[in-house]
Amino acid sequence: MAEDADKPETMEEDEEQSASSDEAEDFEEETPEEEKPKGRKISNPLGIILNTRMLRRVVQIIFLIGINAYFFAALWGQEVITQFWGGFRDILSTLPIISPLEAEFAILAGSFDTLQREFTSGIFPFFTIGAMVIILTIIGRSACAWVCPMGTIQDFASLPKREKIRPSPGTEKELRRLKTYILALVMFFTIWISISVALGTGDVLKNAMNIFADAPFDPFNPAYILFVLLPAQDWPTSFDNLWLLGTWGAVIWLQVAFVALVVILSYWFPRWFCRWICPAGWLYGLFSRDSLIGIGRNPARCTPDVCNTCEVVCPMNIRIRRFPYQHMHSADCIMCLDCKSHCPNKAIEIRFS
Ligand code: SF4
Ligand code: SF4
Ligand code: SF4
Repeated sequence: MAEDADKPETMEEDEEQSASSDEAEDFEEETPEEEKPKGRKISNPLGIILNTRMLRRVVQIIFLIGINAYFFAALWGQEVITQFWGGFRDILSTLPIISPLEAEFAILAGSFDTLQREFTSGIFPFFTIGAMVIILTIIGRSACAWVCPMGTIQDFASLPKREKIRPSPGTEKELRRLKTYILALVMFFTIWISISVALGTGDVLKNAMNIFADAPFDPFNPAYILFVLLPAQDWPTSFDNLWLLGTWGAVIWLQVAFVALVVILSYWFPRWFCRWICPAGWLYGLFSRDSLIGIGRNPARCTPDVCNTCEVVCPMNIRIRRFPYQHMHSADCIMCLDCKSHCPNKAIEIRFS
């Protein structure tokens, strides 16, 4: 399959990367005219539309709709579609994404969402943990790139913007710590509730925890807000009952504002919620770092001193050139393959280890 070789978006670069860009420009200037490619050779014209990035967009849209497949049955009576997705759920009901199963139309749940719910119900999530670990150790965080609805929404929000903002490595590192703290807090409350349930005092604690009782991350979980809270509100059906929006309450409006922030900021900061906030992503990264299938660079093709295209296009802002050629063991890599699609030397390879 021919890869799309569009020019990458130019991001605000840190000093080192700017230097590399300058070097890349110098390199271009020094390249003898006869050695420069005369034009882009398209071995397979269909490659313009049939490429990895396009395939990922299609899969993302299918899952974004499919995750809420019961919607089809409710709206148009499309039982065939819901049966197809129901079959998918019967094989694997949880995936390492964020997606609440109690969403009215949902057929798939996120492992992290399910973990919290099972713990707070007094159940030890053997199956959920087992499935999560197996998936992550085989295909890494691919589900983040190809399936997760919040990843999809952020990706599409960032598509129109060509010039992305990339914080300096130090700032990026500090911002990434946020999700660690959030995960620690979420797990603390989840296990506290779990122990209380086991001791028979769970009801009292759950009443006190209020909206945090079933899954402590839910109030900040954009997928929960979008697929559970918003559909449960009273929606106006005409101008005459617009006043229904006034019945929504302050908390839900704050949550709607948070989801809007996730989408709007993604325009400038690709996948900022994944990179800095999502505790599920951090948990998944623990098991995906040494996944069987990963990304590596071919040292015979890679020219890291004069090129940084892979880092410019990486939605997770990973400093790819700092990793060993053989296998990029990064907990943040979501296997989106954007680096592979854009690498001018076709140096990025999928590796099995
Ligand atoms: S890190 Fe992003 S893609 Fe992965 S589960 Fe979280 S929101 Fe979804
Ligand atoms: S992997 Fe490709 S894009 Fe990245 S530094 Fe090497 S040649 Fe450049
Ligand atoms: S390193 Fe490559 S595959 Fe991994 S997240 Fe970045 S662009 Fe995607």
